[in-house]
Amino acid sequence: MTPGWAVTAIVFVYGLAMGSFLNVVIHRVPREMSLWRPRSHCPGCGALVAWYDNVPVLSYLWLLGRCRHCGAPISWRYPLVELTTAGLLALVHHRFGLTVAAAEVAVLMLLLVPLAWIDLEHHLLPDVLTLPGLALGLGGAALEGWPILRDALLGAAVGAVIPIAVIYGYRWLRGREGMGWGDVKLLAMLGAFLGWRGMLMTLVLGSLAGGAVGLGLIALGRGKSDTELPFGTFLCVAAVPVAFWAPELARFLGWVGP
Ligand SMILES: [Zn+2]
Repeated sequence: MTPGWAVTAIVFVYGLAMGSFLNVVIHRVPREMSLWRPRSHCPGCGALVAWYDNVPVLSYLWLLGRCRHCGAPISWRYPLVELTTAGLLALVHHRFGLTVAAAEVAVLMLLLVPLAWIDLEHHLLPDVLTLPGLALGLGGAALEGWPILRDALLGAAVGAVIPIAVIYGYRWLRGREGMGWGDVKLLAMLGAFLGWRGMLMTLVLGSLAGGAVGLGLIALGRGKSDTELPFGTFLCVAAVPVAFWAPELARFLGWVGP
């Protein structure tokens, strides 16, 4: 039998390839470009990227982060997204093995990585990721039986209602949007994958992290109280520890279990 670490290593290499695809998603989805055509090319000179210059992480290293043809810099986002995706999928295998739960958390990670980056760069949480994500979260929960599905349905509903209440409450109090409709769909998706408790935990952790970063930026003189932070990015990052360690986190935060 193949030892567990060898399978984790195979999952890591597979994750590098998935990360390479997610880089295409991050670049093309917010620009409403097709994921399949045309083939990858340098945005600087338009040269097609050869397969040997498209190997995850390694190509970036041997090209020293520059296009082979015109020398235009390649964003460090590319190797970072590849390594993050590979690391997260390896962690999924290490923690959950090869189970339905593992498949579900893996799908969630493959959604969170592009959503976090696209919201950071474009202040956008595309429906083409969150809505199929919502369906996949509910579908995965359905495979695990009614108690999990009930928890997922409740999570999706509460996840949608909270930001909708914030949107209307803010509009009424301040005359502007406190959250976006993208956050409604993202939190509903997170509720479907993580259940209502996990969704609330993500919301608390994401808000704390967002608040801390916001205060930090103000302290450094780089932000004001109305600087818009990509809240979706904080939610995506916060969902990662919840997906892996919800029971441990609940104990740490002193939440009462079910
Ligand atoms: Zn070029």
